[in-house]
Amino acid sequence: MSFTLHGIGVSGGIAIGHAHLVSHATLEVDHFVIPPHQIAAESLRFDAAIQTVRAEFETLRGEIPAGAPAEFSAFVDLHRMILDDATLSSEPRRIIETEQCNAEWAIKVQSDTLLAQFDAIEDNYLRERRNDVVQVVERILKALSGQPGYVPPPATDAEHERILVAHDLSPADVVQFKRHNFASFITDMGGVTSHTAVVARSLNIPSIVALHRARELVREGELIIVDGSCGVLIVDPDERVLAEYQRRKLAFGAERSKLAGLRDTPAVTHDGVAVELHANIELPEDVAQALANGATGIGLFRSEFLFLNRSDLPDEDEQFEAYRSVAQAMNGLPVTIRTYDLGADKQTEDGFTVGANPALGLRAIRLCLTEPQRFLSQLRALLRASHYGNVSILIPMLASSSEIDQTLQLIARAKASLDDEQIPYNRNVRIGSMIEVPAAALALDVFLRKLDFLSIGTNDLIQYTLAIDRADESVAYLYDPLHPAILSLVSGIIKRANKAGVPVTMCGEMAGDVTLTRLLLGLGLRNFSMHAAHVPDVKQQVLHADATALQTAARTMLRASDPVRLKMLLARMNSPIH
Ligand code: PEP
Ligand code: MG
Repeated sequence: MSFTLHGIGVSGGIAIGHAHLVSHATLEVDHFVIPPHQIAAESLRFDAAIQTVRAEFETLRGEIPAGAPAEFSAFVDLHRMILDDATLSSEPRRIIETEQCNAEWAIKVQSDTLLAQFDAIEDNYLRERRNDVVQVVERILKALSGQPGYVPPPATDAEHERILVAHDLSPADVVQFKRHNFASFITDMGGVTSHTAVVARSLNIPSIVALHRARELVREGELIIVDGSCGVLIVDPDERVLAEYQRRKLAFGAERSKLAGLRDTPAVTHDGVAVELHANIELPEDVAQALANGATGIGLFRSEFLFLNRSDLPDEDEQFEAYRSVAQAMNGLPVTIRTYDLGADKQTEDGFTVGANPALGLRAIRLCLTEPQRFLSQLRALLRASHYGNVSILIPMLASSSEIDQTLQLIARAKASLDDEQIPYNRNVRIGSMIEVPAAALALDVFLRKLDFLSIGTNDLIQYTLAIDRADESVAYLYDPLHPAILSLVSGIIKRANKAGVPVTMCGEMAGDVTLTRLLLGLGLRNFSMHAAHVPDVKQQVLHADATALQTAARTMLRASDPVRLKMLLARMNSPIH
């Protein structure tokens, strides 16, 4: 039966393909349809895994030393009880049979149901037992991985015709897609500037977040259409709808090829104002896409992605190689590398504990300043790379003068240690600050005095100014770059930086939103950094804009406060006369 779901389109274009369901928050559990004659074998495989884990618990119990605290055996007994409960030891077998799926998928579906029940429990003690369930499930999955099972035949469709359907994905999950070729992905959760959506945009494939119940409603293998521009998902379309979307897909592709022809055209407005259009990247391999789309620099290398999807941390040499490769590949063009912005929704796997309110907790520079040794090794790697290209260092989430001072002192320490070892680096490497905390935007003087450049991070600036968690789709509707508070902060930062002669860039998602290009030009912005895929569209806007006329139009917008009037003024600004 055909039906439609609406979410937030995070990356434009149209994809038509077959749904591939992935389990909650992990890409490690695949979903296969098991042919009827293999179902019994799959159930036996599941039973064998349960037996293996049971035997593991027996061994563990037998190995507890005589004088060990009583909690040890109580802990093993609790896990054994969880394993023996029918919800884990037999319900998945029923799922294998009724849904004709692999054992891993069945156990994951069942554990998602159980965990959701735990999340709803009010009692703290009982809710904490959730982790015990997770640990037992992980043991079963591990046991299954040691049991050779059904190998699905190669997909009849190429991977690029598959659309990934997930309940939620972390930014670390999404960055792994760079190595796959899915046509599109859609999730139930996520906000428009969540890091998941931000990374999705860099994949340059149509995608939608905040669909609420897509993973529950869509079935494996079902034909679906993703319209990433409108945030519309059409499941099991009829022939007429399918034909219409095939036509739109072709038209979108033709428009993209036309824009690709602008690659080497300099971004200069109609009245002769030169504009820099740089790319945001997550991994060194993204440089190729940046260059292919005509970016004239890397405006934001989110270095924290080097730290994700691994159990160890990259050491100084590994980081140096990554930064140097980007610097060299850009061949003298500017490369701005941001020191790692870990914490909040981007966690390493080294057991670091997350605070109750991670977006306001030990994140980015705050985390770096609490662990100077790890930070120093990144600073040394960055400085060493500065010898091989046009590298600048960008610091995320600075909010106060003392944080700037501590950071600059650590950079001086990193430089001194390189001097001691006679390792070359660019002594005049520029140090800049993200302006993404409202406090920084409001107390800008100290940033202008102490740093070489600024970069406006509108994703966080909007999150913190409007008090909307960017990862929470229930408040995503409040995301509003045209809110008068945001316009006033952004305009103030640009104006004061321009007056002080300090270069200012914008690298948040606002910079790649073509509907805002003219407004930002009117506010005096001349340096934009965005996902590479957006560079051609933004360039087209720049080429047709008149920067002088836009100044007056932007001033009118700054005086307005009514949201309807603001939208009307923006539409007028985007009409062909400007
Ligand atoms: C921002 O906050 O706007 C930004 C560019 O950084 P990130 O999205 O990585 O937080
Ligand atoms: Mg940010």
